[in-house]
Amino acid sequence: MKENPNNIQLSPHFTLNEFLNLSKYPDNIPTIGQIANMKYGCLHLLEPARSIVGPIIINSGFRNPSVNRLVGGVNGSQHLTGQAADIRPKDATQFKRLVALLKENQCTDQLLTGNGWLHISWTPFGVPRHYVRIGYYK
Ligand SMILES: [Zn+2]
Repeated sequence: MKENPNNIQLSPHFTLNEFLNLSKYPDNIPTIGQIANMKYGCLHLLEPARSIVGPIIINSGFRNPSVNRLVGGVNGSQHLTGQAADIRPKDATQFKRLVALLKENQCTDQLLTGNGWLHISWTPFGVPRHYVRIGYYK
């Protein structure tokens, strides 16, 4: 994987690089504000969940507009602002538990699940909608 000289630790167990997928999208560089948003998600959602279910893999985190188009993301996707991540537990048997934890978390904005992975979003500057749809992605 390409080294990002500006990689930073967002929280005890998550780094910025895990959100960027730079090996595939070298120009996927966020602004300071977008990084602050990712940090919020790590501290309030990903770290608390990780402490229960173990390591969490980020399949897709931050996306600049061209990356969002390439992966077929919706217009206005929260991935564009660093306020969402598509994740799965490294230990697949922990998936249901991960879903349950994020469902209970008061910082959850949107929780949409797929098969073995889920989309989670957060709103550092707004009231979370707590919109939960299990089996949203077929
Ligand atoms: Zn997503």
